[in-house]
Amino acid sequence: YPPNLIKNFSIIAHVDHGKSTLADRLLELTGTIRKGHGQPQYLDKLQVERERGITVKAQTVTMFYNYSKDRRKYLLNLIDTPGHVDFSYEVSRSLAACQGVLLLVDASQGVQAQTVANFYLAFEADLAIIPVINKIDQPTADPDRVKEQLKAIFDINPEEVILTSAKTGQGLEQVLPTVIDRIPSPKGDPGRPLRMLLLDSYYDEYKGVVCHVAVVDGTLKKGVKIASAATGQSYEVNDVGILHPELTPTSHLFTGQVGYVIAGMRSTKEARIGDTLHLSRTQVEPLPGFKPAKHMVFAGVYPADGSDFDALNHAIERLTCNDASVSVSKESSGALGMGFRCGFLGLLHMDVFHQRLEQEYGAQVISTTPTVPYVFEYVDGSKVTVQNPAALSSSPGKRIVKCWEPTVLATIITPSEYVGSLMTLCSERRGEQIEHSFIDGIPTIPFCLTFYRQRVMLKYKLPLREVVIDFYNELKSITSGYASFDYEESEMQISDLVKLDLLLNGEPVDALASIVHRAKAERVGRELCEKLKKILDRQLFEIAIQAAIGSKVVARESLSALRKNVLAKCYGGDVSRKRKLLEKQKEGKRRMKRVGSVDIPQEAFHSLLRSS
Ligand code: GDP
Ligand code: MG
Repeated sequence: YPPNLIKNFSIIAHVDHGKSTLADRLLELTGTIRKGHGQPQYLDKLQVERERGITVKAQTVTMFYNYSKDRRKYLLNLIDTPGHVDFSYEVSRSLAACQGVLLLVDASQGVQAQTVANFYLAFEADLAIIPVINKIDQPTADPDRVKEQLKAIFDINPEEVILTSAKTGQGLEQVLPTVIDRIPSPKGDPGRPLRMLLLDSYYDEYKGVVCHVAVVDGTLKKGVKIASAATGQSYEVNDVGILHPELTPTSHLFTGQVGYVIAGMRSTKEARIGDTLHLSRTQVEPLPGFKPAKHMVFAGVYPADGSDFDALNHAIERLTCNDASVSVSKESSGALGMGFRCGFLGLLHMDVFHQRLEQEYGAQVISTTPTVPYVFEYVDGSKVTVQNPAALSSSPGKRIVKCWEPTVLATIITPSEYVGSLMTLCSERRGEQIEHSFIDGIPTIPFCLTFYRQRVMLKYKLPLREVVIDFYNELKSITSGYASFDYEESEMQISDLVKLDLLLNGEPVDALASIVHRAKAERVGRELCEKLKKILDRQLFEIAIQAAIGSKVVARESLSALRKNVLAKCYGGDVSRKRKLLEKQKEGKRRMKRVGSVDIPQEAFHSLLRSS
């Protein structure tokens, strides 16, 4: 395949604007999958993707298309990408293998926060951008208005916009011809020595490590020996091919193609995403690769039953083989036993990881309160990044003198009537406004009725901590779901942070410690104590629940004693019934985590940690 007959492109859009559905239609149109066969959103293969209706992993697929204009057969590689902010890393990686994108926008929802974020990812990567307004079949569709928005925000010429319905098929026939006309072919050189970019890798039980690669220069042939530029390790290529739509062996991959390689790697740790693969014993300049994934959120992951540590260890090892964006290190907690500290790209990523552990690997886990990476400087000038609040210590000799917290630059797009309440929300969350603009063009007569149909784009600098904990739900609830939100990482800012301990009968529970802004410590402490009081079963003795900063108690609750007498219900002398009841009580005990003298039911950890 000569590179000029190859086109590599991706579909980018806000969540739910129809990327996966459009991908389905294109696969059918090119005969890659049969119409009406297979499930909708064909490329969403993971169970979590199907249940949540979101794409988590980018998927590549190769299609062949006969272009009627020049009567040639083109090879098209389509990469379907996730839309959610947590997975923008996945998007930027996918774009490295593309020369163009379809920028999809829902005809009634218009431009949303992730449309903006994804547009800039493509724009900064110098890709050809084909604007597509989708869902024009909907009664509320207003494509002209969306065209105006595209013009106002991205300076996109309204005449370039394609209108489609991935549902009814309307307008679809224009998509692939436009891809061929407007997206350049990959620029690699078939005459140069082989260079491939490792895009992704996963572990398959039968085939071993499968690598997705983009061949930048030269040709890859089955049977050759390749080497990793990162490690110098070399491998024999056992199998190569394209994803059409499943692994389809082809014996060669040519310049500009995207496909898979199986080369006897033992673990995905050897298949480093962003690495350059080349023929062994030839020298090549490594490709730029990717910047490493940035972990925004950390949480402890513990087996729900302490004895299951080995099983959890095994499950995490296997899952991280297919999700290399999670960082994992061992930790232990007085309350929860042996477990792991994991770093995630965001809260949704953390939820998805949790769900995949349970669904795909049968693990039962407790996650601790998510925290963001704070930096502390001690009086001796040393600095630490704290991923686990419990691990933060200070002593008179090692006093903390300065703290920093990560911030983000957030983009919110909202109908104008919600601007006031959103500004209140952002200032409660310690945000600083950067921008406030109308995206439907500037209203000619301010304060007239049409003003209320306007959409506004707000940009805020916000502490990451305020964004990861419940910001999104709050935003959705005050705008009845109409506002959308996205963020990108920004700098570390100096902040007044304290460690908030939670004590039960005077004993700190390490898994419940958190780091909070000093001004909010008291309120957070009070809320935590109240929540804990509601969740904890009353026990045989009184419990004092306290929140403290150092030795200073900022909030307290107490739970009065309850005499649990399970036998009180047995009046008769029925021995077997009595034994059953005692067994039942023992059973209940086993599911408790004992902290000092207090039994905390497991569900308490779960609900308390999830909601705080
Ligand atoms: P993604 O998150 O961008 O991948 O979006 P999906 O492809 O999963 O689509 C989200 C929802 O929109 C699904 O329920 C689709 O059936 C629906 N949808 C997609 N395209 C269209 C369209 O052109 N018209 C209508 N009415 N619904 C669509
Ligand atoms: Mg999708």
